[in-house]
Amino acid sequence: METMSPMHPLGSRANILLTSVFGPYARDDEYGSRKINPMELYHNQVTREQGPFSLRMFHRSFGLMLLKENIDAPCTLLDFPSLERFTDELIDHSYNIVGISAIIPNIGKVKKMCELIRTHLPQTTIVVGGHIANMPDLKHTIDADHICKGEGVSWFRKFLGLDEKAPIKHPMVYSGFGTRILGISTPDKPVNTAAMLIPSVGCPMGCNFCSTSALYGGKGKFINFYETGDDLFAVMCDIEAKLKVSAFFVMDENFLLQRDRALKLLELMKLNKKCWALFVFSSARVLKSYTMEQLIRLGISWVWMGLEGENSSYGKLSGVQTRDLVQELQSHGIRVLGSTILGLENHTHENIDRVIDYAVRHDTVFHQFMLYTPIPGTPLYERHKKDGTLLGEDERPAADNHGQHRFNFYHEHIKDGRETEYLRNAFDQDFEVNGPSLARMIRTMLAGWKRYKNHPDPCIRKRLKWEIKYLKTTYAAAVWAMKRWYRDDQRMHDKIGYILRDIYEEFGWKTRIIAPVLGLYAYLAIKREHRRLAEGWTYEPHMSYEKNAKALELESSAKSRIKIYPTPQGAFIPHTAQNVT
Ligand code: SF4
Repeated sequence: METMSPMHPLGSRANILLTSVFGPYARDDEYGSRKINPMELYHNQVTREQGPFSLRMFHRSFGLMLLKENIDAPCTLLDFPSLERFTDELIDHSYNIVGISAIIPNIGKVKKMCELIRTHLPQTTIVVGGHIANMPDLKHTIDADHICKGEGVSWFRKFLGLDEKAPIKHPMVYSGFGTRILGISTPDKPVNTAAMLIPSVGCPMGCNFCSTSALYGGKGKFINFYETGDDLFAVMCDIEAKLKVSAFFVMDENFLLQRDRALKLLELMKLNKKCWALFVFSSARVLKSYTMEQLIRLGISWVWMGLEGENSSYGKLSGVQTRDLVQELQSHGIRVLGSTILGLENHTHENIDRVIDYAVRHDTVFHQFMLYTPIPGTPLYERHKKDGTLLGEDERPAADNHGQHRFNFYHEHIKDGRETEYLRNAFDQDFEVNGPSLARMIRTMLAGWKRYKNHPDPCIRKRLKWEIKYLKTTYAAAVWAMKRWYRDDQRMHDKIGYILRDIYEEFGWKTRIIAPVLGLYAYLAIKREHRRLAEGWTYEPHMSYEKNAKALELESSAKSRIKIYPTPQGAFIPHTAQNVT
């Protein structure tokens, strides 16, 4: 621990490079990339066993984007570079600070990047942040000057002598890019994409395994970027106008938990006739504390909810029948992404099938399965550390501690690496029983439309109309193609056939004509994608390179031969353990 807050000698004149770790990601390599751990949120841990039906999509490094907007110093952002591109950036520019954001499995890449910075820019200060900051002994594992734990904007502002409490400027960014499903890429247009909205970080529920909660202080702690419903409404209007969106992916661990803020937002949305759709994360009890009318008018269209496991003792689930809740939400058109943990304390070889069966019976639109994983910083990690039940780096390398392959601790009951097979079984069973998530999503949207299409509130009708626009055309075609794909599987063929029948009944003859025409194209795309995946195809995000206004100013100044400040030799903060926070 540092006794004094570190400060960079150049303050806000420092030229900063912010970067994510280098790719490619979806392959096994010496730096810790893993094929099972691609840079795709859904394909990584939600639809990974759904083959051509898997939702493929990338998300930007939002933390770095938030930093770039909120540091009043020249900032360049390199997102998803290759190793060569990152090296070139160091060779071609004279940065005073390089900030790297990473998760723990990326430790090998961060180490390599620090080495490259020392080689090419020996005077540069290296700051490392993100979830990796909670890794014990990080300061001795990598050659960084500072480890930024927790919220990075105020840390960086302090480091540069800026006003820590200055208002947060929200980055203007779509939530995803490079979307692909059934082997068909969808264009990154506003009409297809939600904007990212980050109201807060952290979650005060402090579940024992939750690394995000732990990163921002754990139980009882969180940080608001937008304190009130008024603040949030204002920033949403701004994003709506600039990005031309009507939907927001709300990147807040438990958005509805701050009830006053959510209800004020609802009031303002009503007052101003805003018909937005919100995709949120919420715990079950919190969801239950709202009426369905409130959720629908607030535009809650999609919710990521922890189901964890039957009889798990988490307070957020206490008294909630999660299957009933999921069925109720989905019957109102709200798509649920349920999240189940495999390997809880009471899971054994004998009961694991029942555990998986319980999860699958929720029939959520999407289902995430994750291995119970003690991540540094969490109470679960501390408990295993105390009990001496963590596996060492030689037994389970950090690169494999992502929850999609093996335990990183000795499980009392599940032995011999069987968790890998159980995890795969869970994904397979969910897919086999409930079918492609795309079909489930379409079924749920149709249910919402039928229920609310004549609702007296014009805003609810407007949102629903906008959301189901593609049900009449491309989604109907996708269902037609999926039905054909399953022609040798009577049960799934019938299941998907009922969805198609309901779509036809609802939207009539035009859809009946369009669906098979476009559907044949989709069917052929599924076949092609299936073949490609069998041949080992993987997908990687494209690189992004952006500069904030100050960096652009600096660049144009450099072009007109105006001075770029070098880091003063005498004032350089040396790399010592004391500098590591
Ligand atoms: S409720 Fe969800 S976000 Fe909050 S601490 Fe628990 S797992 Fe984390």
